[in-house]
Amino acid sequence: MIPGPIEFDPSVMEKMGQPTLSHVAPAFIESFGRAIEMMRDVWLAPSGQPFIVAGSGTLAMDMVGANLIEAGDNVLVVSTGYFGERYAELLTRYGANVTFLQSEVGDVVPYETVEAELASGNYKLMTFTHVDTSTGVLVDAKKMGELAQKYNVLSILDGVCSVAGEEIRQEEWGIDVVVTASQKAVGVPPGLALLVASEKAMNVWKSRKTPVGNYYCDWSLWLPIMQAYEARNPSYFATPPVNLIQALERSLELILAEGMDARFVRHKRLAQKFRYEMRSLGLSFIPTSEEITANTLSATYYPEGVNGGEFLGKVGENGVVIAGGLLPSHKTQYFRVGHMGIVSDEHIDRTVGAIKNALK
Ligand SMILES: *Cc1c(COP(=O)(O)O)cnc(C)c1O
Repeated sequence: MIPGPIEFDPSVMEKMGQPTLSHVAPAFIESFGRAIEMMRDVWLAPSGQPFIVAGSGTLAMDMVGANLIEAGDNVLVVSTGYFGERYAELLTRYGANVTFLQSEVGDVVPYETVEAELASGNYKLMTFTHVDTSTGVLVDAKKMGELAQKYNVLSILDGVCSVAGEEIRQEEWGIDVVVTASQKAVGVPPGLALLVASEKAMNVWKSRKTPVGNYYCDWSLWLPIMQAYEARNPSYFATPPVNLIQALERSLELILAEGMDARFVRHKRLAQKFRYEMRSLGLSFIPTSEEITANTLSATYYPEGVNGGEFLGKVGENGVVIAGGLLPSHKTQYFRVGHMGIVSDEHIDRTVGAIKNALK
């Protein structure tokens, strides 16, 4: 019950254990093509360009920096914790001029502050973390998309802890790139960097004045590969992680069989159930209100007088693995429980039971 890698469906794991096909075998080409097509349905971005590349979520973030940033570009990074800081550092490596707006711990950056900054600065691009996995804070992605549209700024959503768990309607909300990784709510073992880019983002990339300085990340090498597999043609740039992509195909099938709306509702219901139980034990959370609290994980303060390490150990003895704090300033004061992907009532009940036993 950690915020990734999560638990995976047995049929997804089965794909991981199958004999590895050639990357140009017809059956694999079909899997890759279907995975690309299904990503558009999961991201709710019918005209977006999906990319599936071996790597982790950080590589998906890096692809945005490599392809959309040119030295001297003005970028606004709206941060709610640890991963916002990562994005600022990453974009700086590509020569971006980063303005960094950091929220108070447990809060979002006020939308008026974001708007005032967008109105005054000459920004090319804005990034924000949908769910910061260090704080469990949820940012209003629809509102951020609207602001970016209003000021004609490319919007980049770090959805590593939200895609396929939190509601995201990429195209309707006008978000240009939504990045994630396989091991969180998408429900596939670690190893895939996933993103969908809007037509606008692809056009900004096409009209670059300078070449992309990062070889492995360069969309001019990956776009023909995505197009070839989608057209069901063999193709090669760098060997794809065959089993992971077949596992992705399976997991996307499961996600779409449930339906995106039903999935958003289930995540919300189970998150509320978990937090109801924590509240009834007298515990409180890092996010300062339910309105800005994630549905994919909860960041809960330890009760006073409880030693975190000892508590996590006791929860573990009760058969449930949860995570400690991540935010350096508050690391020893809270624990994190992921509730995303195939999570069910039974997972929540057993986790609550283990937490109660450990506290006793
Ligand atoms: C996990 C996570 C990342 C980093 O992903 P990796 O797969 O560990 O590289 C980035 N952003 C958010 C919000 C995350 O939860």
